[in-house]
Amino acid sequence: MKAHEYQARDLLAKAGVAVPPAIVVDTPEQAAEAFKKLNAPLAVVKAQVHAGGRGKGGGVKLVRSAEEAKSVAQTILSKPLITPQTGPAGVPVKKLLVAAGVDIKKEYYVALAVDRAVNAPVLIASSEGGVEIEEVAKNHPEKIIRVTIDPALGLQAYQARKIAYKLGFVGDQIKQAIDIMTKLAAVFVKTDSSLAEINPLIVTPPSAGKPDGEVLALDAKFNFDDNALFRQKDIAAMADPSETNELELAAQKHNLNYIKLDGEIGCLVNGAGLAMATMDLIKLHGSEPANFLDVGGGATEEAVTEAFRIILADPSVKGVLVNIFGGIMKCDIVAQAIVNAAKLVGFKVPLVVRLEGTNVQPAREILKNAAKDIPMLQAATDLTDAAKKIVAAVKGKR
Ligand code: ADP
Ligand code: MG
Repeated sequence: MKAHEYQARDLLAKAGVAVPPAIVVDTPEQAAEAFKKLNAPLAVVKAQVHAGGRGKGGGVKLVRSAEEAKSVAQTILSKPLITPQTGPAGVPVKKLLVAAGVDIKKEYYVALAVDRAVNAPVLIASSEGGVEIEEVAKNHPEKIIRVTIDPALGLQAYQARKIAYKLGFVGDQIKQAIDIMTKLAAVFVKTDSSLAEINPLIVTPPSAGKPDGEVLALDAKFNFDDNALFRQKDIAAMADPSETNELELAAQKHNLNYIKLDGEIGCLVNGAGLAMATMDLIKLHGSEPANFLDVGGGATEEAVTEAFRIILADPSVKGVLVNIFGGIMKCDIVAQAIVNAAKLVGFKVPLVVRLEGTNVQPAREILKNAAKDIPMLQAATDLTDAAKKIVAAVKGKR
């Protein structure tokens, strides 16, 4: 699960990390009001979407007056935001964060993530933070620091100190940076995060009483482990369904594991491994899967019907491949569901079905008998045959 920047900032602020004051708004008028309330000479208007790279896509703008805040807010809210992470269609913007602008002397990067290779959290940091961090990681990997964190002990003081020195913090900045990294690491563990990122972490220029400047978090991003949400009620409550693909939401409701992909062949499969193999075979035979869909080991007729609805609701689906191994799930139930779904939802695209396992004979009978009602239906003898048939049917239609 992902959180918005304003929610991530709240988590950090509650943990005692310094962030500039900010107000969440959803209209241009409120943005102007927020500017006045912040009472600062400079503010930033920031699109709140579940995608990064907003700065590069025009989703983060500096403003110097209430009128400017209003017009910038109007512009950002009026069209989908396209960033390097959203895809060409962009994402709609419904909320904005108006934050007090700060003077930036230098931008840093600091994040925690789970390193599956070592089964532990890893702290990643760089003295070259900001909107170009992806380029830094690609072209100057030596400028990225990685430190493995003992899952039982957490980020140790000596580790945080070493990182702060390596990043080039000096004087009082060192203490502030250590404090922020320690708090970030603690929030990461406490909230079952899979990613907790501050980019940029910044140092302000020297000011009265602060000769070394101030260390602040200007942008924050959190992703959470979905499997831990049952024990993270406060985190789960932050979910924004409007940021999730509609079909994926419908699938969640019916306990189906569905992920939208870019291809043209809808897949309905039981078991994640079989689903992966099915997608591989579709690619091998010259097409691309439109989705990953695992109906699970013991899916009901109702779930299969719903799965068809979801797959067929995707306009890019030009054909559907069903690949079911009837272990717990019986083939005849699936066959019946296919027939029912075809009658309920209506199949206008080719459908190839490969069934194997428990009750496969009665299942084949059901499919055979239904063929006259569902002219788009073809049965396949094995998985390769199925992949070839659906690809041929889809290509032939073009
Ligand atoms: P994203 O990472 O999605 O591009 P950020 O919040 O990091 O969005 O903003 C992009 C850049 O805008 C930052 O790297 C920083 O230079 C600038 N910025 C963000 N917030 C502020 C702020 N409160 N004051 C001044 N500059 C800011
Ligand atoms: Mg950022």
